[in-house]
Amino acid sequence: MLIPIRCWSCGKPIAQFWEEYQERIGKGENQKELLDGFGLTRPCCRSMLLGQVDLIDTVAQFKKS
Ligand SMILES: [Zn+2]
Repeated sequence: MLIPIRCWSCGKPIAQFWEEYQERIGKGENQKELLDGFGLTRPCCRSMLLGQVDLIDTVAQFKKS
């Protein structure tokens, strides 16, 4: 779905990194260096970006109204 605004676990705001993260991953940059560069040191926050898949457009096709 959409990236959560804050980390579920610790509450740190992470959504502002998502677009840049996707763009730079697409260019083949190293994931570890990217996450370190954003200052995401806790594993909970790192997993939020690593595990995110944008499914909102797919799910929206099945909206009832
Ligand atoms: Zn966290």
